[in-house]
This record gives sequence, C-alpha cells and structure tokens, in this order.
Amino acid sequence: MNKYINQLLQLQDMTLALRENDILRRDTKSAPVFSKEIEKNIEEMKKSLPSDIVYKMERLNSKGELFVVPMIDNVCNGCFMRLPVAVGHNVRNTTQCVTCPTCDRFLYEDYQMRRENDNAHYKGIARFSSLALMIPDLKASGHAEAIAEMASATYAAGFVEDEKEFKDALMRREAMASTAVGCALAFPHARGVHAGGLTLAVGISQKGVDFGDGGDPVNLVFMSAVPAQASMFYMEMVSKLARYFGDETRSQRLLSCSSPEEMWKIIVKIGR
Ligand SMILES: [Zn+2]
Repeated sequence: MNKYINQLLQLQDMTLALRENDILRRDTKSAPVFSKEIEKNIEEMKKSLPSDIVYKMERLNSKGELFVVPMIDNVCNGCFMRLPVAVGHNVRNTTQCVTCPTCDRFLYEDYQMRRENDNAHYKGIARFSSLALMIPDLKASGHAEAIAEMASATYAAGFVEDEKEFKDALMRREAMASTAVGCALAFPHARGVHAGGLTLAVGISQKGVDFGDGGDPVNLVFMSAVPAQASMFYMEMVSKLARYFGDETRSQRLLSCSSPEEMWKIIVKIGR
C-alpha cells in the first residue's frame, strides 16, 4: 500500500464520520462543533496530497461515493468489475495511485480480505499500517535503540518524510514520560511530524526491551507517527490496541509470530 492510499483511507474515514455526525447528532448542540473540527482536519490532510488526487477524490465524494476501495482477487470492490491484469499488477507493484478504469475509484490491494464477504468494508487497525511495518524480531535491548530501529523501518517504507525528525520527536515524547504502559506493551509516538497520515509500526522483542522506566521489559512495541489532523484517530487506535493486547492470550499469540505475514494476520482483525 503506498502512502497516498493510507492518507486517502483516513480522509475517507473522516468523511464518513462527518456524515454519521450529521445523521446521529442532528439535534444536539455539539454537532456543529464536532463537524467543524472534522472539516478542518479533512482540509489539512488534503493539503498533503497532490492536487490531481484531491480533484479525483472530491469528484467522487461529491456524489456521496467511496473514493478508495480494496481490490480483492483482481476485482474492484467499488463497482465489482474484474480488473484488467495489467491494472491489478500496477495496484500491487507501483508506488503511484492507480484507479479503476470502470468507476475511477482509487484501488489498493487487500490480500487479507480475499475469502471474506464481498460487502465487508476495510476497517480496523490495519488501515494505519502495512506489512512492511511488521517487525517480528527487534534487535534492540534498550528503548532508544528499539525506537530508532522501528523509526528507520517506518521511514524506509515511505510513511514519514524525515527519519531524523521522527526519531527526535519520538525521543522527546519518551523523555516527557515513558510510553510503556504495563502488560509488556509500549506506545511510543510522535505528534506533529511530517507524515502522510497516522501510521502504526509493530515490533516484537522476545527478550524484552528495557524502556528505562523501572518497569518490566516490553515485548510488544506499537509505534506511531501522529500528524496533528489524525489526533483523534490515534486516541481511538491506541485505546483499541491497549484493550486488545491487555489480554495475555492475545499478546502471547502476537508474540509467537515469527514473520511479518503472521503478525499482519492478527493486526488486520483488530477493531473490525
Ligand atoms: Zn471500479
């Protein structure tokens, strides 16, 4: 999945939240305030996208349609037409945005949804992450090294623009208060960095990482870049992850993974 798709998915989530707000909060005083906040975030995120992508996105959105949809087994899940082989190949291999030749929606490959119901929508934690951000064997034993290792992977996968800026911001946050929260979990994050959208990298350490807070070693590290406009989604995501992996059976299942693919299978199921 390329970085623009990640942003488009978040934009789509915000657009949907805006519509839900109109429906659900119609007669309360908080509705306009909430809508304004989402609209502001949408405008902010659009600024980080190329103008041709924004133009296409707005055209589809003005018709009340989804503008980014998964490609499952070479079928566009917006119009359910089978895609030409070359288009499917492009969706999988290019770093550019590819659109469906029939309905013009942006496409991304959704390899984990292959055998599921055609109407299932892409939800959950995976929309903030990618297979490249699953790290099954962290080498580091200290928190600064673990953070550097995961930040490098996030940068290498193209999700943040400046590796040093990201690392520095993560360490500044860590210096304020440790992000280790108990249950062998830690949530290092950096707000306000130059990232396309909210991102999530997941690292596993069998031996445990010392987070320097006097607590138990951390086995599962969830690292995020949090652009200002994605703050509320970050809060939602972190609370889901903490709740989910606060359960020892589940955290052990993730800890027993030895490949990015095994990890991804678990991550995509969270928060659906
Ligand atoms: Zn289509």
